[in-house]
Amino acid sequence: MGATESHTNGFDWRAFDAYLFDIDGTLLNSRDKVHYFAFYHALQDVYGVQRNIDGVPVHGNTDVGILRAAAALAGIANDEFERKLPEALDRMRAHVTENAHELHPELCPSILRLLKDLHGNGKMIGVTTGNLEAVGWAKLQAAGIRQYFSLGSFSDHNEFRAGIFREGAAMARQVTRPDARVCFLGDTPNDVNAAREIEMPLIAVATGKFSVEELSALGPNLCLSSCDMLWQ
Ligand SMILES: [Mg+2]
Repeated sequence: MGATESHTNGFDWRAFDAYLFDIDGTLLNSRDKVHYFAFYHALQDVYGVQRNIDGVPVHGNTDVGILRAAAALAGIANDEFERKLPEALDRMRAHVTENAHELHPELCPSILRLLKDLHGNGKMIGVTTGNLEAVGWAKLQAAGIRQYFSLGSFSDHNEFRAGIFREGAAMARQVTRPDARVCFLGDTPNDVNAAREIEMPLIAVATGKFSVEELSALGPNLCLSSCDMLWQ
């Protein structure tokens, strides 16, 4: 790439007041099975079925959506799923909280630099993730970055990502100002599509399971192989 070109393609990523990050594949990747087994225990202890979430699309999905798909594959009727859902989510939260010492998140490239940069420039930083709240905060705590985040929008009461993003943007504007400029960061087609649905900008990073080619085909405002590229 020539000296006059830029990976940011003219997109001024510093021009926002608030930055809302997806967690898995965007901020970090988990090298453990704590979250995975939380689903297993909820399915076993609450719905009485012995099965895991293999075969369910997890990337860009939400915890409630993953649990719903796994329960359906196990033959659980929808009314039983709904009736026991609060208990199942509590079981998941408890499993992750009890096993938080086994979480081994690995930060994605340049995430710490980006968080320090944004924080140092007075930006509001939050998370918008398909994780349950207790699960998301536990991962950020284990990764040593919890202190940079002043709010989060999770899947506890929003099963779909556009709802999670919409609520995150509203929370960010509540703590900053009503016309705050908000930018999302995510790693999956679902993130790109959710931002488009609520008509807000998103930076896509290929640090999860999807490539730059797959993500850029969906037309995010900016698409990077990793946050390293923000400074190149
Ligand atoms: Mg993700």
